[in-house]
Amino acid sequence: MHFTGTVYRNPYWPTWPLLEITQGCTHNKCKFCTMYKDVPFKMSPMEWIEEDLKELKEMDPHAKTIQLLSANPLCMTYDKLAPILEMIKKYLPEIEVIYTQGRVSDLKNKTVEQLKSLKELGMSEISLGVESGDDWTLDRINKGYHAKDILEQCHKLEDAGVDYWMTFLNGVAGREYSREHAVHSAEIFSQCKPMLVGTGGLTLFPGTPLLEEAEHGEFEPLSEKEMLIELKTFVEHLTCDCTFITHHTVSGKNLTGPNLLARKDRIVAALDNEIKHGDMDALAAIRRNKRTL
Ligand code: SF4
Repeated sequence: MHFTGTVYRNPYWPTWPLLEITQGCTHNKCKFCTMYKDVPFKMSPMEWIEEDLKELKEMDPHAKTIQLLSANPLCMTYDKLAPILEMIKKYLPEIEVIYTQGRVSDLKNKTVEQLKSLKELGMSEISLGVESGDDWTLDRINKGYHAKDILEQCHKLEDAGVDYWMTFLNGVAGREYSREHAVHSAEIFSQCKPMLVGTGGLTLFPGTPLLEEAEHGEFEPLSEKEMLIELKTFVEHLTCDCTFITHHTVSGKNLTGPNLLARKDRIVAALDNEIKHGDMDALAAIRRNKRTL
């Protein structure tokens, strides 16, 4: 298999085979991310992709799902992406779900009709690293789009019938804008229909501009308790029904699972309990030991 750079496996479906069709990230400028810093963006040659598919066919001819790599294969135009999906079907005809990650802005180069066609070819689940629905925060972290883009592009996915996930990056606005980040993100996410909302807590990794800013006193990171308060505010304001998962900040504790709206009171109560009685030193220690997103 041609794995040439950073490989990020979706932690929630770890048995999916991976297929690298791009390397790196087209944006590579988010202030909290070093994941693909040294990996220039490239599309994999079709010969490599075909060789890998032949190998996957040998290993698991009945594969039902597959994850495309790397950061945002979704950036490819329809004309480049469709032949790859066709090739996946040729070698792995039982594939039911082709899952890919992407940026909100990757959807701009595709029409609803093209997204429908990609879905027919199997691309039925997309994870969007949205991070925030608050324009100030999106600018602050250099995300490269605004709330109106999130709404426009997510509505295209809904019109095309493609399922999608949205992520909320807990803590990324820092102390001053924490509440705006939580409330505005929930408001924007609630105007969409994601199948899943995932939240991760900000960890300041070495080499990130945000860590440098924190060291120079230009960014005030939240404490573990403040992260939980922000997460609670986000959940309280979230009104779209979906699966809800948390990682990096707190896991388990009645937080993760389907039917957010039916469980919302329990999630908020669990967060309240964690805010009042949780071991913040233990949470901080978990974060200190993290090496990557
Ligand atoms: S967070 Fe995602 S879009 Fe931003 S630089 Fe990292 S991989 Fe690229």
